[in-house]
Amino acid sequence: IHRPCHFGWEGIATKSVTLGNLARIIGGNLVRGDANLWLKTANFGKPKYLRSDQIYFYTKKKSWNQQLDAIRRVRPKAVVLPPSLSHHPIPPSVGLITVKDTFAAFWRLALWNWRHCSPRVIGITGSAGKSTTTEMTASILKRKWSMIKTQGNLNTYSFLPSYLVRLSPGHRILLLEMGMKSLNNIARQCSVVRPEIGAITNVGEAHVGSLGSLDRVVRAKQELIDGMRPGGVLFLNADDPRSRKLNTRHFRGIVRTFGIRNPADVRAHSVRYTSRGMEFRVRLDRTDYPFRIPVFGVHNVYNALAAIGIARALRVPVRDIQEGLAHFQPPKMRLQFVPGRGGRTLINDAWNANPTAMMEGLKVLKHVSRGRPAVAVLGDMLELGNLSRWAHQQVGKFVAKISPDWLVTVGKEAREIGTTAAAMGMNPSRVRHFRTREGAARFLQQLPRNAVIYFKASRKLHFEKLVKLLRAP
Ligand code: ATP
Repeated sequence: IHRPCHFGWEGIATKSVTLGNLARIIGGNLVRGDANLWLKTANFGKPKYLRSDQIYFYTKKKSWNQQLDAIRRVRPKAVVLPPSLSHHPIPPSVGLITVKDTFAAFWRLALWNWRHCSPRVIGITGSAGKSTTTEMTASILKRKWSMIKTQGNLNTYSFLPSYLVRLSPGHRILLLEMGMKSLNNIARQCSVVRPEIGAITNVGEAHVGSLGSLDRVVRAKQELIDGMRPGGVLFLNADDPRSRKLNTRHFRGIVRTFGIRNPADVRAHSVRYTSRGMEFRVRLDRTDYPFRIPVFGVHNVYNALAAIGIARALRVPVRDIQEGLAHFQPPKMRLQFVPGRGGRTLINDAWNANPTAMMEGLKVLKHVSRGRPAVAVLGDMLELGNLSRWAHQQVGKFVAKISPDWLVTVGKEAREIGTTAAAMGMNPSRVRHFRTREGAARFLQQLPRNAVIYFKASRKLHFEKLVKLLRAP
């Protein structure tokens, strides 16, 4: 829990739950409180639904003074504190519950709420494309059902209770992007929610640094397969060689595939770039349907295929899927087109980077620049452990192949991209390396005004700041 936790629920019981009951559920003592303050019952037809309010759970991740400020500002209906802090003055209108461990208490509350709800659970994992696939799926499903879904990339086990606690019986879908930084994280998420539908976008180098090897990355993704509900439907990428290492022999459900190059259950053909994004066709139930997405890149077609598969497994009509995908809004900093100073076009793809993602983005640069000077600004890809040098070299080879007009690298590791690209035939006078974003910005400002400039690096390099230096005022 990283910030004040505002949550609400409806219809979890037909009789009044008091603050005292809350204390009981989360295993604490009610020190001060007035039940009516905390929960109001409101009529939403029959039965009577309980209406939401706000509770603040203390978290160790922030200083107490910061939290006290937040409590005074937010004025939640109740705060949950460890006994060591309960003597501090908090506003008198705020109820006070003490518990030994606030995080454990939050989990108890979340699980209690979870037991009163029964949404269909969808789990999406993979090395790249989790958030995009999740957002595409949400864009389709929200047209039919109310849902709770992962926010941003708050996608690991420790964030799970904040989604469970927000559920109400009216929510038909729990859509979870399942991320991890270590083995067992996805398994723990699955042990609680047991997804009925699962999708693994691909298996790549991302997180090799923290996990230690590609085999362990495969194992981490395998945890979704092993943790799904029997009878569930699993979607795998038919074109991703590493996804073939996933073991489905013991999976007691239906395995479906999506892809473009290889035969697949959800297979796209006639994939093409348009001025606004991508168009492609998919054969479903013996009919060929057109789809469009307002984002560029073949990798995004893969994400859309996974979303189509999930939606079909839930029997969403094709027309709703087409509409949902056409109105999908990409998450920030994923191939975002930004007007640059002097008429340049900036493509901000700086959310994060790994070799697969970087190469996919470079293909987009190649497609959209069309006769205008194409500039690739590439920074370090971090968390690749002992594969780092090799991975930067792979990207360097790829840059030489697509041959943009300029290659600009920033950061220690990214230098290798430039060195390799030059060694593989790219004109060395068109390759520049900078240690800082500011140095790169000064150089980029001198490039032709019709240039299309693509930015990609790991999150820690904060390339969005570089984009900011170059964007039109
Ligand atoms: P993170 O965990 O870093 O948030 P993610 O798995 O959620 O990553 P997205 O946020 O959807 O993935 O996309 C991050 C980047 O990965 C995009 O900017 C894009 O470059 C790349 N990407 C997205 N989808 C794919 C895909 N299917 N294959 C390869 N690369 C992809």
